[in-house]
Amino acid sequence: MRPTAEQVLVQHAGTGADAEVRAAAARARAGGAGLRVEAGARTGSVRNRGPARRQGRRAGKGGAGRKRAGGCRGWAGVQRLGRRPGAERRASVRAVRGCRGAAGLLLGRSLGLAVWDGGWVDVTVVGSGDAFGSGGRFQTCIAVAVDEVPRVLVDCGATSLTALRGQQFDPNEIETIVITHLHGDHFGGLPFLILDGQFRRRTRDLTVVGPPGTRDRLTAAMETLYPGSSQVQRRFEVHVLEHADGQSRELGELRVTPYEVRHASGAPAYAVQLQTPAGSLAYSGDTEWTEALLDAADDVDLFLCEGYSPTPIRWHLDLETLTQHRDRFTCRDLVLTHLSPTALAANLTDWKIAYDGLRLPL
Ligand SMILES: [Zn+2]
Ligand SMILES: [Zn+2]
Repeated sequence: MRPTAEQVLVQHAGTGADAEVRAAAARARAGGAGLRVEAGARTGSVRNRGPARRQGRRAGKGGAGRKRAGGCRGWAGVQRLGRRPGAERRASVRAVRGCRGAAGLLLGRSLGLAVWDGGWVDVTVVGSGDAFGSGGRFQTCIAVAVDEVPRVLVDCGATSLTALRGQQFDPNEIETIVITHLHGDHFGGLPFLILDGQFRRRTRDLTVVGPPGTRDRLTAAMETLYPGSSQVQRRFEVHVLEHADGQSRELGELRVTPYEVRHASGAPAYAVQLQTPAGSLAYSGDTEWTEALLDAADDVDLFLCEGYSPTPIRWHLDLETLTQHRDRFTCRDLVLTHLSPTALAANLTDWKIAYDGLRLPL
């Protein structure tokens, strides 16, 4: 029998996949809860940018500095900490932070956590699904949180507000939302999130960065779903900024770089790379194979990549093509997301697979 995605995840716990982890995974599956996965201490240099390495990657050969993407290094210290209610999750982070000085630093490092503004940072795959709820998964949404407070989202699908609530994130805390492309399962949650902020007296301004046309498409979506909602005076501003291919944008300490990819959505589509003081993250968005993915994922700590289909399909990434190019990626970790029903049912033993609520350190 083919393994399920959850079974694969446990297999990918690697050396940490002991009986306790397996039992925890079974409990999580039975209870519909998620697993919290933390990486162990980093090893080796991941900042070894160099012309030789780039050439090697471009040629599809291993260079001296090239590292194998998708290895298990970052998952060696997997622990089952459970999908915790918000207060408990916050308490766990406070407990780590409570260990001041060198002890706290060592403990945080042992959990693979990095620091931004003095807080521990992790990435949560809030929604790992495709547009159609395959596998019961929520639509695309990735949160970068500092001390459990969501600061940045990448994509916000139509179901994302529910997923955020279910994972104890307060949408009013989000400062920036980076949108890869203008399909409903990637940006359709914005009207709900903005209206939620209005009704819950949000005061923090929200910045949305998306493809050219985002401002008009967002206005149209709001007017279609809730007529008049785009014109309402609120206690906060929604600033809409638009990507330009390959051009980095600084938003405070966050740097966002979009790379145009191949996906028809009525506007250009992008893979995005996010650099934060704590580490870097890239997400492919939806796209068929393009060399731009190598640039988006270049040297990042974590690359979340679409794994939509087992075999090639127009406008989307497939496991067969990704396998051919896998050694060319220079990211530290590669995790697949946005899987169709056929991909979820495929043999996934060679891949790390995201699921709703998966937490990863940067
Ligand atoms: Zn999609
Ligand atoms: Zn799409």
